[in-house]
Amino acid sequence: MNRISHWIDGKVVASTSGNSAPVFNPATGQQSGAVDLASVGEVDAAIASAKDAFPEWRATSLSKRAEIMFRMRELVDANRKEIATLLTAEHGKVLSDSLGEVARGLENIEYACGAPQLLKGEYSEQASSGVDVYSIRQPLGVVAGITPFNFPAMVPMWMFANALACGNTFILKPSEKDPSVTMFIAELLAKAGLPPGCFNIVQGDKVAVDRLLEHDDVAAVSFVGSTPIAQYIYETGTKNGKRVQALGGAKNHMLVLNDADLDMAADAAVSAAYGSAGERCMAISVVLAADEIADDLVAKIADRIPAIKVGPGDEPDNEMGPLITGEHRDKVRGYLDGAVESGAKMVVDGRENVPGDGYFLNPSLLDDVTPGIPSYDDEIFGPVLGVMRVSGYQEGLDTINASPYANGTAIFTRDGGAARQFQFDVQVGMVGINVPVPVPVSYHSFGGWKASLFGDTHMYGPEGFNFYTQGKVITSRWPDPATSSVDLGFPETR
Ligand code: NAD
Repeated sequence: MNRISHWIDGKVVASTSGNSAPVFNPATGQQSGAVDLASVGEVDAAIASAKDAFPEWRATSLSKRAEIMFRMRELVDANRKEIATLLTAEHGKVLSDSLGEVARGLENIEYACGAPQLLKGEYSEQASSGVDVYSIRQPLGVVAGITPFNFPAMVPMWMFANALACGNTFILKPSEKDPSVTMFIAELLAKAGLPPGCFNIVQGDKVAVDRLLEHDDVAAVSFVGSTPIAQYIYETGTKNGKRVQALGGAKNHMLVLNDADLDMAADAAVSAAYGSAGERCMAISVVLAADEIADDLVAKIADRIPAIKVGPGDEPDNEMGPLITGEHRDKVRGYLDGAVESGAKMVVDGRENVPGDGYFLNPSLLDDVTPGIPSYDDEIFGPVLGVMRVSGYQEGLDTINASPYANGTAIFTRDGGAARQFQFDVQVGMVGINVPVPVPVSYHSFGGWKASLFGDTHMYGPEGFNFYTQGKVITSRWPDPATSSVDLGFPETR
């Protein structure tokens, strides 16, 4: 059986904690491995390694850091298939989707290659007579990333690429459900020339997370996961004096107005709801359909569902794989079991003809969902799309703005004025205009509002560079000694 251990100080380190968790192939339901769960002492060893590596890494020239990122870029590019295969084996998503995840993660390594340009400071010559003022950004020290199961390659890349390029050393605590891919990434970073200790992995559960949150030598924590844990991470980390960005869960709405191209909207809704079996924080889980077109749109979505090929992710024709665990599959099924009783209409029932022995569910479509029923209110995180009928733009907008979550949203319309008004009005962090999954490119930043983000800084891109650095401003004077005199007045600039 495959044993997945820690990566500390540039090598694999087996745990002596005596604790481990099973890792499954979700397509078969069979256990494929066991992941070590770190003790407090093992987390401390990773932090000590990162702390030791920091002074030399932060002093490493920008061009050398960029060179290592460029090499990492080439290595990830050359190993896309291997990474995607590992990912599919433990996550379950289909191989094409895993390749897409790697491609979107790789963008962040490419962005980090620009560190020499991005870390250029600002300089004001002659701010006062003979006085220059300049701002620089310096790394924080040891920073940690805690990541979810649903993007086991991409979300770590959102974090470590920028953190390292900025001169920090990094500790990753991956999801214990699909940890293998991160060990492969650690090997690639070592091959790229990253010195030992700059990137460490502690496999683990709450014990490891809590140690990272309380240890004095961890300066900052990036988290991506569910809302309750994000809130816990933010509150605990900030109480302990750390800089924290904690991205939480989502319930993303797609508003379809009367004038939208309904075939395009139906294609988009199906792709965004059922891709990766709905286990995406940017999945569309509610379509708000304007009354006039709602019947047609529901029919068009329902027509497309039977063509979706559900099955093991490593079989090339399949488009949707299993859910991550049996427990999660049962939780998602529970929402379907209770949907009709709560007032929704079952249009397509994904509980029927489920393939294989793994944790599969077929895509489901519910109509007439409304706020106040569990299948509308909760983040289901499965292949379940709900349709709510609205009178038009205003009711759609009000519904979105009343949601406690605010990660992503989309509007489908041919009316540029309505789209622009939506962009202005909507209280959500990432907005798509005729784009159902508006995950920002790596040179913008990713993050929601409200219960989808705790903290002030979005992830990756320019905000990622801000998060992983702290500003310093230097006021400098190289006076002509002949002009020196004692002056007790407050320094003025004019
Ligand atoms: P999760 O919150 O259960 O776990 C995330 C991480 O936190 C894991 O590393 C896990 O080991 C750790 N963790 C879990 N329980 C903990 C506890 N009690 N104390 C300390 N640490 C704990 O999330 P998940 O199930 O792995 O991922 C799915 C969730 O992540 C969904 O809610 C999804 O919306 C969200 N997500 C959000 C984004 C985003 O960018 N906003 C992106 C991806 C996923």
